Amino acid sequence: MKSILTIKDLDVYFGDKQVLKNINMKIERNKITAIIGPSGCGKSTFLKSLNLLVNEENSFRGTGEILFKDKNINTMGREEIREKIGMVFQHPTAFPFSVYKNLIYAPIYYGVKDKNDLDKIVEDKLRMAGIYNEIKDNLNMVATKLSGGQQQRLCIARALTVEPEILLLDEPCSSLDVKNIENIERMLLEISNEYTILIATHNLAQAQRIANYTAFILNGELVEFAETDKIFTAPQDIRTKEYIAGLYG
Ligand code: ADP
Ligand code: MG
Repeated sequence: MKSILTIKDLDVYFGDKQVLKNINMKIERNKITAIIGPSGCGKSTFLKSLNLLVNEENSFRGTGEILFKDKNINTMGREEIREKIGMVFQHPTAFPFSVYKNLIYAPIYYGVKDKNDLDKIVEDKLRMAGIYNEIKDNLNMVATKLSGGQQQRLCIARALTVEPEILLLDEPCSSLDVKNIENIERMLLEISNEYTILIATHNLAQAQRIANYTAFILNGELVEFAETDKIFTAPQDIRTKEYIAGLYG
């Protein structure tokens, strides 16, 4: 099967410090890939490398190649890459205006004008993100008044309004309760038919519940990358074995 993303010999430095070391990976389309590893190992840096966000950090230096469907992402415009590869951060950042306006922001920017089209996008994406029924009667409510879990799902819905092909999620559940985590996981499993999802998480049970593939990063090194079952039941590297046994981080 053809991969949607190919990462070749990726090195990332901040100043003198190397935070990603020779990462090689192929990401399969319409699957969920979990990125696991202890805090500070490079998960966020890795995700931000995939949409060139890392290039905006002050002391960044990187080498290697990242191909999005055979196209080097460095040859793509920043806007094009962010349109194809959406990202949702750890702490939800709903814009301080209505739910509806949060969702039509990007479509309007990309030229959608018709009110019915906008209404449809809003409903479709809220449904996909599993939050429509909860907030359909409050679309004019200021989005920052929603609960943390609702804002997180709203931000995922908002990322989907751009029609990305890949969705990068950086620890989207780290500040959520069990009920909201369940909602988000169920939703991710549903939308993974249509989107390729990469999710950084330090929640190993979460990786096991939702990810088709799991990549374990330690000190910037990709220690092991395989089917999730294989990582958790038959890890090949002693460090993976130790990490999933809870020996560190
Ligand atoms: P994780 O998401 O796994 O916790 P990060 O990717 O955030 O790890 O960080 C990896 C390493 O890179 C850490 O040592 C962190 O301190 C360092 N780092 C991250 N961003 C920057 C930056 N902009 N400048 C300098 N160092 C950074
Ligand atoms: Mg992080």
